[in-house]
Amino acid sequence: MILHNSRVLVTGGAGFIGSNLVRLLVRSGHEVLNIDKLTYAGNLASVRDLEAAPNYRFLLADICDASAIQAAFADFRPDAVMHLAAESHVDRSIDGPGTFIQTNILGTYTMLQAAREHWEARASESSGSEAGVSEGEKGSAACALDFHTSFTATPKLRNSEAPTPSTETPKHRNTETLAFRFLHVSTDEVYGSLGETGKFTESTAYSPHSPYSASKAASDHLARAWHDTYGLPVLVTNCSNNYGPYQFPEKLIPVVILKALRGEPIPVYGAGANIRDWLYVEDHAEALLAVLETGTVGETYNIGGNNELRNIDLVRRLCDILDDLRPRPDGTPYSDQITFVTDRPGHDLRYAIDATKIKSDLGWQPKQDQQSGFQKTVQWYLDHESWWQEILSGEYQLERLGRKC
Ligand code: NAD
Repeated sequence: MILHNSRVLVTGGAGFIGSNLVRLLVRSGHEVLNIDKLTYAGNLASVRDLEAAPNYRFLLADICDASAIQAAFADFRPDAVMHLAAESHVDRSIDGPGTFIQTNILGTYTMLQAAREHWEARASESSGSEAGVSEGEKGSAACALDFHTSFTATPKLRNSEAPTPSTETPKHRNTETLAFRFLHVSTDEVYGSLGETGKFTESTAYSPHSPYSASKAASDHLARAWHDTYGLPVLVTNCSNNYGPYQFPEKLIPVVILKALRGEPIPVYGAGANIRDWLYVEDHAEALLAVLETGTVGETYNIGGNNELRNIDLVRRLCDILDDLRPRPDGTPYSDQITFVTDRPGHDLRYAIDATKIKSDLGWQPKQDQQSGFQKTVQWYLDHESWWQEILSGEYQLERLGRKC
């Protein structure tokens, strides 16, 4: 159980989901340290309203930079970590998988090691002795944190440095007393593609198809391994496609809205038959908070919107909402701008989440339905033109990504 005024270290809090989550955490009374590298997807304008809040701090850092992350843990002394920082766009992962491997896999490894060292130090402090954490374990964590970018730099323990075998399994350690949690935030894309029926449950086997989903799958395995091997109090969430305020305009929903408003062709991949389960981002943030505060350590929770739509139906729905809220000057429908384009390579057909567990165990369910969530989102982009205009005045200009392979 994590208390309401805890110190929460969030990674990726200047991104789409992270900024919505940080806003919720700050309003909920948690003390927040937001660590973000501010890649093309990170934007301090998305958290500008929080800058003056006394319980909010920002740190510009790369999660792959072990010494910066280690220093952040030492300085902030978090009660919990919510790890969201990632490269997140499938199309970009097709064009350039290297940064996905670096950030999503090595970055997660760096976070886990730093969290482990911090958690073990807390355990020592709270027991008033070094019991439960051997010198070897401490040494291995510190050594591993020297690791920066090379696979070959993984430290090898000499026998004399190896952790002393414990008589209790990691699961028997009293992680609740230590009151530290590491929530690893992931995606349903790790499960691969569904046929026309069925849903992903927490026990569905992993079958990722894109460099993005493969790198996220690897990071999920690392997070669970740090729980099973070292006893780190890890929780994992796998969530469906998010939409809502502050989403970088490379993703489907903002692309559709902004292309429509600019009078440009609205691109739909293939025949638009791919199905996604859409979740409003603020509902996701509430789910993450529920998992952090009341979830069971070692467990995985699937999070979904119960909101399956074919891409073409989604695009038409957004066009209809725009027809209502901002009709085209000539009175013709925005759907006239829809254009079918070559499909994405390896495009998964269907994702759908079975979110029974998080509902029955933690009482969470989405508040927004299809109509209200999409309506709010279109309205937000209409009301926040300066936010997206500033982005589109930079390098990214709504061009098609993911075809350079
Ligand atoms: P995003 O791309 O909008 O934001 C990612 C953030 O991480 C950015 O602020 C970026 O600057 C930061 N970042 C990237 N590399 C970093 C690094 N090396 N060090 C520090 N910060 C770095 O992504 P998002 O859509 O908000 O997704 C957040 C998380 O949620 C990701 O882990 C993603 O896999 C997961 N997720 C996303 C969705 C979705 O639909 N968007 C669904 C399920 C899960």
